[in-house]
Amino acid sequence: MHCPHCKHEETSVIDSRLAEDGRAVRRRRECVKCSHRFTSFERQELNTLIVIKRDGTREPYSRPKIERGVWLACTKRPVTQHKIDAMLSKLEEKWASNKQEVQSSTIGTDVMRELKRLDKVAYIRFASVHREFKDVDEFKEELGKLFK
Ligand SMILES: [Zn+2]
Repeated sequence: MHCPHCKHEETSVIDSRLAEDGRAVRRRRECVKCSHRFTSFERQELNTLIVIKRDGTREPYSRPKIERGVWLACTKRPVTQHKIDAMLSKLEEKWASNKQEVQSSTIGTDVMRELKRLDKVAYIRFASVHREFKDVDEFKEELGKLFK
């Protein structure tokens, strides 16, 4: 979303809450260039993002749920709320772009990939919790890369 002040393309979300009985998301945003703060309303899009779980059932996407998992992995790591917000906003746009539906495994894989760039330890924690490693050897291999 463009900054209305300087037209810079990158803005970060500093607060999100539901509005209009849950049919809209009200976001406070801040321009990463000029720090101008503004409010955006996103209707339907994010609310209708549907997560397809491994067993085939569907549930509405919940950012707080994903964010909790990410923060668990980032405990005591030099990762800021700002970075996590930016990461999730970027991924949500990607997830919503395909018919507003996303596989839960895609969410896990995408978050993992982004965490890998953000913080290696957080990445390993997240990946082990979500059992994304095929086996113990693969897990050890990733750990090995970390500490060599
Ligand atoms: Zn700006």
